[in-house]
Amino acid sequence: MSKGYIESHTHAGMIPYAGFQAMADKGINKAMSCAIVLAARHAESYFDHFRMIEGFYRKLAASFGIELFSAVGVHPAGIPDDWPRVIESLPDFISSDTVVAIGEVGMNQNSTLEKDVLRAQLEVAKSCNVPAIIHTPKENRPAVVDEMLNIAGRVGVDPTLLVIDHAHLDIIGQINDFGAVPGLTMRVQNLTADVLVEHLDLFARGMMNSDYSNIMPNDPAGFVDAVEYMQARQVDENIINALARDNAARLYHI
Ligand SMILES: [Zn+2]
Repeated sequence: MSKGYIESHTHAGMIPYAGFQAMADKGINKAMSCAIVLAARHAESYFDHFRMIEGFYRKLAASFGIELFSAVGVHPAGIPDDWPRVIESLPDFISSDTVVAIGEVGMNQNSTLEKDVLRAQLEVAKSCNVPAIIHTPKENRPAVVDEMLNIAGRVGVDPTLLVIDHAHLDIIGQINDFGAVPGLTMRVQNLTADVLVEHLDLFARGMMNSDYSNIMPNDPAGFVDAVEYMQARQVDENIINALARDNAARLYHI
């Protein structure tokens, strides 16, 4: 496997120019950009977003030495009125070599609409045999995760292709029992390095990420601080590499 870290969940369209530089300087050479169009009303907003990331931002990232891959899907923070048109288009976008997953999908409110949109996207992930990256909300987390895993189970997705992101102690048991992959968003609002190291056995199958966006204070290369924290505490190098690179490389074939 190549050297360098993999940022397994970011939003490339929100990363400032200096953020790409910081990612490169900290040793990130591959990144997965997840789809999000806040408050989207129209399917076209997603179509243009997918093309913008796969085209424009992939080239921009490459100028920093970062190979950018992307995931496509309808984010729960912006479900357009004509969302089924986005779902129908997903297999076409996934046929590109650099579009390697469905995401970021999931639920915030546990609404019927959110369940319908999630189910439809998991069906696409299953039929296209690609991983799906599932967002988890800030509140009511175990109940919403339970609902999402039930939907995934009924659709019949391969659990090893299901990423449950923003994992923490409150839901890690559900994720591991299902056999899904924990996404580890390393920042003060989510998982912190001390909690990760204290419960390494629970999170060892995970993939670290920074989930950069401009809607809260965070750092485009933040998860590398957790790598350094683990190195300073003599955590097994193989475990660090698994969390910072190898688990994502294997899942996404990147
Ligand atoms: Zn995200």
